[in-house]
Amino acid sequence: MTAETLLQIAETYKSPVYVYDAHKIEAQYNRLTAAFKEISQLKIHYAAKALTNISILKFISKLGAALDTVSIQEVQLGLKAGFTAENIIYTPNGVSLRELESVAALGVQINIDNLELLEQFGHKQPNTPVCIRINPHIMAGGNSNISVGHIDSKFGISIHQMPLLLRIVENTQMTINGIHMHTGSDILDIDVFLQASEILFAAAKQFKKLEFIDFGSGFKVPYTPDDFETNIEELGKKLSQRFNLFCEDYGKPLTLAFEPGKFLVSQSGYFLTQVNGIKQTTSTVFAQVDSGFNHFIRPMLYGAQHHIENISNPNGKPRFYSVVGYVCETDTFASNRRINEINESDILAFHNAGAYCFVMASNYNSRYRPAEVLWYNKQNHLIRKRETLEDLLTNQLVLNF
Ligand SMILES: *Cc1c(COP(=O)(O)O)cnc(C)c1O
Repeated sequence: MTAETLLQIAETYKSPVYVYDAHKIEAQYNRLTAAFKEISQLKIHYAAKALTNISILKFISKLGAALDTVSIQEVQLGLKAGFTAENIIYTPNGVSLRELESVAALGVQINIDNLELLEQFGHKQPNTPVCIRINPHIMAGGNSNISVGHIDSKFGISIHQMPLLLRIVENTQMTINGIHMHTGSDILDIDVFLQASEILFAAAKQFKKLEFIDFGSGFKVPYTPDDFETNIEELGKKLSQRFNLFCEDYGKPLTLAFEPGKFLVSQSGYFLTQVNGIKQTTSTVFAQVDSGFNHFIRPMLYGAQHHIENISNPNGKPRFYSVVGYVCETDTFASNRRINEINESDILAFHNAGAYCFVMASNYNSRYRPAEVLWYNKQNHLIRKRETLEDLLTNQLVLNF
């Protein structure tokens, strides 16, 4: 998207506002399917939790993708957006047996990552095929918040528990139709991913009625101009070859599934904020914007580095700034960042604001959550209105004293 278009959107819908480029989502989807063109049955489940706006879900459904969900509410949103139950997989962690059964009753593929739950579910519903989430204990990435394959992780059934897993399957006579892993975000090293895949293949051999193998996600996208990204094309080549060999061995063509969130939507998003003012201290120049971690928490929660561009002053002389918000707590978006000279009321564009940004927004400090705009077919479409005071009071019951 061009700076002019973004500025125009900020003018029309005011600030702060989230903007998503539908064409970028489509391009990423096409890039992924092209990388795996050697796979005869490929299924891309978009991880809804990254960005759940209903119009985004509808757009992604139109592209031909399936959906990955982590709560019954995401399942319900997915159904509303037009995904069929057969095209939804439910991969929760720590949910109740009751929620699991409610989702299964909708005809959605369930994925279980806990042996107790597997046994309980298998006893009650032996005829419902289940996918199992394996933890291969391969460390991917360095941040323990987003790396979920390590030994202390709460996610998945440990690969070391295979004997017990097989006994439960035999005792309950349940059908395992899929096997899954999600090693966490930020895969930089394809060989680490392939190592984890080998563990999954070895486990997969133990089940005779598989229909699919789901390799989760963890595709890394670049967050700053000199950042790394997962080499999808190389991964596509290597994993496809290995997967097709596995299927020959297994004696049946299986579906290869993925669940990308970030990869599909991260780079499509821009978060536009306006500069309230510049504040100089003895050591730092602060640019204070009309937002905070109430709208955009990834820098504070994960230490995420989002590229920030001053789209109001593209030719300004670069200077060093700390970009901070207006929340009454430390809410640093970026420290000591080189940005083209910032003046009051400039519009700053935060890049990679598609995944895990709006969905984590809150009303802290009683601020309204931002509007969301979709750029599609060279036009902007409002897909969520900015909140109002009314919204802050919805669901509150006013007592009279
Ligand atoms: C969050 C999640 C994903 C998506 O991860 P990204 O890093 O956004 O691609 C996929 N699968 C499961 C089970 C998840 O929890």
